[in-house]
Amino acid sequence: MAGLCVRSALVTGANRGIGLGIVKQLLQMPNPPEWVFAACRDPKGERAQELQHLASKHANLVIIPLEVTDPASIQAAAGRVREHLKDSGLNLLINNAAILLNRTLEIETVENMAQVYATNTIGPLLVSQAFLPLLKKAAQGSSSSELSCSKAAIINMSSSAGSIEEIFVWDYGQVISYRCSKAALNMLTKCQSLGYRQHGILCATLHPGWVQTDMGNFSSTKPPLTVDVSVQGMLNVLCSLSEKDTGTFLDWEGKVVPW
Ligand code: NDP
Repeated sequence: MAGLCVRSALVTGANRGIGLGIVKQLLQMPNPPEWVFAACRDPKGERAQELQHLASKHANLVIIPLEVTDPASIQAAAGRVREHLKDSGLNLLINNAAILLNRTLEIETVENMAQVYATNTIGPLLVSQAFLPLLKKAAQGSSSSELSCSKAAIINMSSSAGSIEEIFVWDYGQVISYRCSKAALNMLTKCQSLGYRQHGILCATLHPGWVQTDMGNFSSTKPPLTVDVSVQGMLNVLCSLSEKDTGTFLDWEGKVVPW
């Protein structure tokens, strides 16, 4: 992972699953970030114990409270991160937090559609808006003219389940609200890539594979990938991203996913 040289990174939904896996591997890098911000909605809760344990061993790990559906929580999180970073910016924002409700066409509801959209699509929009000044600052402070994750980047964790062409794992679950929210997240990523290129910020969306997490276990079939393998693959992909990759949809192995 020699290519990824970030001074600071923030991961949402960092207390379990893929988010926690990303935090762990960032901390284990030969050149770990000076600051890793692990954002989660209940830092003191039962489900954040592993994160708390990690923070007790790594002085560069900062746990930040963040509920991605709450604009006030997002603003407060941006404020805390700004205080830690002092005069420098945030290099890497990973919008990872999401929910999946396993519903079919027959039983999908207004409430489910709205809740999943608020978390999986509006959340990444608002979090990116709030952290934009810090991302811009990182880009301005970089000596490189090329877009990269080491300079400034927004990575949205999507899914091939939201690919209109692939309709990944349809036979395992229709998950209508989830698919729609991720298709919309993909469009958001494309828009962000167009809007933020001028600020030197790379924007891309990733499919982590089908991974053994609480979410990945939504059907009775065991997912093929461990968190470690998926995250290792994705961090390698992040290392390799450059100018040509902004606005793209890639999987954990770096293959292009059709929209
Ligand atoms: P998990 O269900 O294991 O973890 C989800 C994380 O998101 C938890 O930390 C959870 O926090 C957090 N979260 C959920 N809602 C909110 C909210 N409103 N505010 C803040 N945090 C929230 O999911 P995975 O780790 O499997 O998934 C991570 C990402 O990867 C997601 O974007 C998912 O869509 C994507 N993905 C996963 C796949 C898989 O096979 N696992 C496949 C394709 C994509 P809490 O503990 O508080 O609930």
